[in-house]
Amino acid sequence: MTDCLFCKIVDKQIKADIVHEDERALAFRDIRPAAPTHVLVIPRQHITSIDEIGSEHEADVGYLLRIASQIAAREGLTGGYRTVFNCGPDAGQSVFHIHLHVLGGRAMGWPPFPR
Ligand code: 5GP
Ligand code: ZN
Repeated sequence: MTDCLFCKIVDKQIKADIVHEDERALAFRDIRPAAPTHVLVIPRQHITSIDEIGSEHEADVGYLLRIASQIAAREGLTGGYRTVFNCGPDAGQSVFHIHLHVLGGRAMGWPPFPR
């Protein structure tokens, strides 16, 4: 994908504070953190949203959750953390390369959507 912000981060055309990188996934700090720890975990492969996950992507998407757990441990999120995939306009998805938010370091309310 040539015009995707997160593909450009994968390709190192745009800088990010990368906290994890391997052959399948990349994780970097959110530019507008909503919690003391706010990391985005993405597959290297471009997938637009969770609505576009095909059977060929299942392993890569599941892998994001394993990386999230490793990052939470490394960030010392012993009190817990939250993982979020926003999908579509009502959820406020703003970047159309699938990404798993990993948020922690503060207590969070539930449900997560009051404005
Ligand atoms: P969404 O709203 O699509 O679920 O999440 C997109 C996230 O990407 C937002 O939390 C936003 O702050 C973050 N973001 C947008 N542009 C950039 C950027 O250029 N670099 C980084 N590190 N994060 C970004
Ligand atoms: Zn992309």
